[in-house]
Amino acid sequence: MNPCQSCGACCACYRVDFSIHELQEHGGTVPDGLAVELNDSLARLRGTDYASPRCAALGGRIGESVACGIYEWRPGPCHELEAGSDACQRARARHGLAPLAD
Ligand code: SF4
Ligand code: SF4
Repeated sequence: MNPCQSCGACCACYRVDFSIHELQEHGGTVPDGLAVELNDSLARLRGTDYASPRCAALGGRIGESVACGIYEWRPGPCHELEAGSDACQRARARHGLAPLAD
């Protein structure tokens, strides 16, 4: 099973900023309601800049069972964060989860 389906830590750890061109209203795929436009070029997924961040698109319980509500339409940074990467392991540690094995 994909380890991400029982994790979700990185969706509740980092600010997720991306080009406004990835928003639906600008011809992209990310639903407009799940993001805030920061300026003329950047948007941010709602919830990812809270003191205890958690993306508004994340469903489920971190470390148990989770799902991204916009998986097929998620923005670039979500595609780029790879399971097993340093950013992944840091996010898991922040949520008290063991590092992924190689
Ligand atoms: S922190 Fe790592 S294992 Fe967890 S959801 Fe993100 S990429 Fe997947
Ligand atoms: S859009 Fe999906 S993959 Fe990206 S941070 Fe939110 S819940 Fe995670």
